[in-house]
Amino acid sequence: MKRGLLIVISGPSGVGKDTLIRRLLEVDPKLKYSVSGTTRKPRPGEKPDENYTFLTRDQFESLAEKGAFLEHATYNGHLYGTFRDRVERARDAGQDMVLKIDVQGAEQVRQLLPDAILIFVVAPTEEELKHRQEQRGSESAQDLASRRQIAEREMTYVSHYDHVVTNDDIERATGEILDLIRRARERQT
Ligand code: 5GP
Repeated sequence: MKRGLLIVISGPSGVGKDTLIRRLLEVDPKLKYSVSGTTRKPRPGEKPDENYTFLTRDQFESLAEKGAFLEHATYNGHLYGTFRDRVERARDAGQDMVLKIDVQGAEQVRQLLPDAILIFVVAPTEEELKHRQEQRGSESAQDLASRRQIAEREMTYVSHYDHVVTNDDIERATGEILDLIRRARERQT
């Protein structure tokens, strides 16, 4: 059986990564989302083990010490990590895994697994990104401000990625990513 692909999706906060990934999974049932662990508190409507596995800092650190994370990073004061066993098991079963991780995590994945497909999602304009961040409204003003600062820094990593996709329209951007995945699958055969 073919080993599943590893598809990494990064991009500034508010660019629409969650919506894009939801749509990708709806359209292509062969894709599976890697649910990360985090010490961040759940946002309204977020479900444990669906959006994230919510962990205390102690739990996270003890898992990290045991090597449970393929990669992990601190983002805006919280820890986030990809569960190694979730990714390995799914890929061994031939499933293509989608990871939504920040630029630090993507760098680690690039080193560990050079065959990963790294995709960076950008907004059509800076104004549009600002607008989407404000619309989300799930963060405090302080949180929003620091996420914006991080986003500016993250944008400098664009060139480290294999592909840059503009999220100007969710269906179009989903189609573009599916096309990249289709081509990677073709290369595997
Ligand atoms: P949020 O708090 O908005 O859900 O996520 C904040 C940032 O953490 C986003 O850039 C997201 O891609 C990143 N992130 C989510 N899960 C992981 C993970 O497992 N590892 C890393 N390195 N970043 C993650």
